Amino acid sequence: MFEILFLGTSASAPSAKRGLAGQIVSHNEYRFLIDCGEGTQRQILQSGIGFKRLTRILLTHGHLDHILGLGGLLSTFLRWEAIEELEVFGGRSTLERVRTLLYDVVLRGNQPPMPLRMTEIKPGVFFEADDFTVRAVPVTHRGSDCLGFVFEAKARRPFLAEKADALGVPFGPERRDLVAGKSVTLSDGRIVNADDVLGPLEKGAKFVIIGDAGRTDNLIEICQDADGLVIESTYLNEEAEMAKQFSHLTAQQAAELAVKANVKKLILTHISRRYREKDVLAEAQAVFPNVIVARDFDQYQIKREI
Ligand SMILES: [Zn+2]
Ligand SMILES: [Zn+2]
Repeated sequence: MFEILFLGTSASAPSAKRGLAGQIVSHNEYRFLIDCGEGTQRQILQSGIGFKRLTRILLTHGHLDHILGLGGLLSTFLRWEAIEELEVFGGRSTLERVRTLLYDVVLRGNQPPMPLRMTEIKPGVFFEADDFTVRAVPVTHRGSDCLGFVFEAKARRPFLAEKADALGVPFGPERRDLVAGKSVTLSDGRIVNADDVLGPLEKGAKFVIIGDAGRTDNLIEICQDADGLVIESTYLNEEAEMAKQFSHLTAQQAAELAVKANVKKLILTHISRRYREKDVLAEAQAVFPNVIVARDFDQYQIKREI
């Protein structure tokens, strides 16, 4: 299961109610800050989630509404060493701009207050833990090196506790070994195999986060069967021409992608101040019913949907 906390849901400029792009994806003890628009550090404080373990920042692209908050964040860390390290992941041109912001504007020759790493990523898996992976995917938007991120829990065979109970498997290391696929010998000499207590392989949850995007035809395969999709929805269909011109999506386009890719839950963000939220929702809902327009501080869980 993955969790997402929206810190900012506005497009291009903040509004009274919406901050600029930023969201935290959590899985077990892992946390990833995805994009860091201006004001993100205050949103983190206000949300109550805090900076703990927030050591990985993933950037979708280098537009200012997605990166300016990094300057403020680092400036705060210079005075108040709250975290042990910071690793910023992004495409080459994104990192070039971030480097200028952090090293030329904020640090100006000073050392960063913690080990600071800039990790250039290209499409493909760039982070792997025991039970999930994070993959970067190419996205078309203004400029080069725009990325989306796919969080995927690894497939696993569920432990069937009732079968283990029936076989008299004690609680403790025997069960752990069985979960790991090993056979165990019980105290009475009987051998229990992993196949006796594990169910068939089940796919893990798939959660796709796409930042700004100008087209969706190259995202269908990427989003295929996702349990959750977060994607921008900057325009309404009545301004589809302008959306195209600025390489953004309409609510309708986002919803059509969800239908084509058989997505289970669609969450729209990057909402322009020019529209009312209910109009954005209505346009998307007419195409894809299970859709939400995210607000700042909203939290959602993404689980494997059968
Ligand atoms: Zn943007
Ligand atoms: Zn952009």
